[in-house]
Amino acid sequence: MTARGVTAPASSLSQALQAELIRLRRDGLYRSRAYVDSPQGARVRFAQREFVSFASNDYLGLAADPRVIEAAQTGAMRFGVGSGASHLLYGHSRVHHEVEETLAQFVGFPRALLFSTGYMANIGVVTALCGREDEVFADKLNHASLNEAMQLCRARFRRYPHLDLEALERALACSRARRKLIISDAVFSMDGDIAPVPEMIALCERYDGWLLLDDAHGFGVLGNHGAGTLTHFGLRSERVIYMGTLGKAAGVFGAFIAAQAPVIDFLVNRARSYIYTTAMPGLLAAALLESLRILRTEDWRREQLARLIRCLKVGIGTSCGALLNSQTAIQPLVVGGAANAVRRADALAARGLLVPAVRPPTVPQGSARLRISLSAAHSLDDVNRLVQALRESTQ
Ligand code: PMP
Repeated sequence: MTARGVTAPASSLSQALQAELIRLRRDGLYRSRAYVDSPQGARVRFAQREFVSFASNDYLGLAADPRVIEAAQTGAMRFGVGSGASHLLYGHSRVHHEVEETLAQFVGFPRALLFSTGYMANIGVVTALCGREDEVFADKLNHASLNEAMQLCRARFRRYPHLDLEALERALACSRARRKLIISDAVFSMDGDIAPVPEMIALCERYDGWLLLDDAHGFGVLGNHGAGTLTHFGLRSERVIYMGTLGKAAGVFGAFIAAQAPVIDFLVNRARSYIYTTAMPGLLAAALLESLRILRTEDWRREQLARLIRCLKVGIGTSCGALLNSQTAIQPLVVGGAANAVRRADALAARGLLVPAVRPPTVPQGSARLRISLSAAHSLDDVNRLVQALRESTQ
């Protein structure tokens, strides 16, 4: 507001932001978006070119599956496009309910609750379950949404070094909190490694804690028919609150929490990011019913993914830098500095290969990386092409 000279001119905000943006550019940390002109898949089009994409989380190649598209079209005819209201104010339709029942049964919990995104699910659960009397214990490499949730809920929180269960146990042992909630990625989103879930559940039992397990990158990919990280370990526990996302391996959009019935009923009453937002459109729920059917029945997609992971690991070996020790579809190649990561990603793009450079603050300083995501829609040739290009771009 510049009228009558009440406050500083608006342009001073722009100038301050401009200076910040210049600093980001200088440090190789500036981010911008490409305008993609095609559906997601092993190949995407933008800037009038086709790229083999190793950038998406569409791990099973379902995001543009014709059967899922058809289910979305039929869903739009039945339910319209917008859901029109929040879940509690008549935006919740029978098809949402069917997806929740399907998910609960699939992942082996009594009940499930759909959220519009995984980000909102994490925020909703942690802020509903924890307050000032409670304590949250978080792995240092957790996803941003878990970090935000932990800060928003006003509980005391402790971040333990990545996968350091001794540090976690020490923290649990000296906690006097009313409720102790461990929050962790199941498959870490920027490293691809898997949390030691059996040991974490054992700690919950020993110290009367609860585990919010964020399986954004394990659901659909790991375990029996893709039922996720708990079935990967052959586990069931009443102490787990399970979060899966539906915009990655399931190829659609949204997320869910699966848990014991009182937890779900409590979330319906208290999770603010569930209550105060428009329900996911019914057409997406209809698409999800079909994509979940395919996800569970087409095991060949997970087998193909496993073949591609082996091929990439063998192909890269130690020749192009350090591939992290990941058995999942996320295969990060750490290259160090942010500018180096961008240079390597640009070199790959020039060869028609799309691999995102992931930089701080998404990952710790000095560990910028090429985050290679594999999908069942890739061929062995695609992976061999990537390996070849990575070798050439290090020379
Ligand atoms: N948790 C993890 C581990 C994730 O990687 C992501 C997405 N990148 C989310 C939660 C958020 O999920 P959504 O994209 O559905 O908001």
